[in-house]
Amino acid sequence: MNKTARILIAAIISILIIGALCYGFINSDITGRMYYIGGLVLFFVFSIGAVVGSFLNVVILRSFSGESIVMPPSKCPKCNNKLKWWHNIPIISYLLLGGKCGFCEEKISIQYPIVEFITGIIFVGIFIVYGILPETIFAVLIASILIVLAVTDIKERVVFDKHTYFLIVTGLIYNFLLTAITLYNQAFNTISGFRITTEWVIYNPMTSSILGLILGVIVMECLARIGYLIAGERAFGEGDTYIAAGLGAAFGWQNFIIIIVLSVILQIIAILPVYLKKQFTGKHYGVLFSLPMFIILAISYYVLSLKGIFISRYVLKNIMLALIGLFGILSAFFTVKGLRAKDELTYFPFGPALAISGILVLITNIHFTL
Ligand SMILES: [Zn+2]
Repeated sequence: MNKTARILIAAIISILIIGALCYGFINSDITGRMYYIGGLVLFFVFSIGAVVGSFLNVVILRSFSGESIVMPPSKCPKCNNKLKWWHNIPIISYLLLGGKCGFCEEKISIQYPIVEFITGIIFVGIFIVYGILPETIFAVLIASILIVLAVTDIKERVVFDKHTYFLIVTGLIYNFLLTAITLYNQAFNTISGFRITTEWVIYNPMTSSILGLILGVIVMECLARIGYLIAGERAFGEGDTYIAAGLGAAFGWQNFIIIIVLSVILQIIAILPVYLKKQFTGKHYGVLFSLPMFIILAISYYVLSLKGIFISRYVLKNIMLALIGLFGILSAFFTVKGLRAKDELTYFPFGPALAISGILVLITNIHFTL
């Protein structure tokens, strides 16, 4: 399909969509129209996110090439032609140009529309959770830097110090401001007056942020060393430690624990299919038998306890727990044995899992409110 045909089809589709929306708006009642306006607002927020995502793509590209983020206008890396404005519309340009440069037909990486789309979705999430408030700025900054960190790590397994430092500094500033605002409010509260208690010193956001930063470093260094003991090599790079430190600084130590647990779960989900496939091709029946047994038993135990089956059946409960423990230990044993034999996944891309968990915690608003 050539360019003119694509543009024509895009124009027809846009006119049809806009026409249908207008028709729907005119023919609906007040409540219906509120939904239309809400949808329009969300679409607007998504578009801003996609534009920011487009900028994040530039940040990612120029981090690798070492160029300035702002100075030279966007150009094709192959033919060096300056891009026209309609080559720069997030997602749409990629579709219109069929994933190729508008001048030289060089293929454009699918990374560009994906990052634009995901950033748009994350912006919608942030808008729904935070609305337009001062903390929205920080939520947007932190989400953006986490996207950049995740993409550079997935793409080239590189974590740039300038990105992690930016995350750490942004996190510290945010929690400092949070603490300063509560202090300020207390100072002018005529009922309770100005009083800094020991409890307040321990539980204020700034303390939580600094402890989070330290905890991030400690947890990652411990995990890396455990990985070293098990697999005989460092499980992940130092960049991941800096990401963890930044997440601790931004979210506080309590939420950092949630993030680290979440990232381990995400990682297991991501690695499991590849891991099991390797077990099949390597004919490691130990893991192939014990791991599914462990998972099936654990899930059935959870379901049964939810249904209250165990309330009067202690023997059954203990037998199940013993079996879960047995298969858990067996699968851990066979896994460690396999890792030592060096034919398994020895490198854990921990950085992206951490960054994604951070974004999930951010847009589910567990902590981030003034
Ligand atoms: Zn080109």
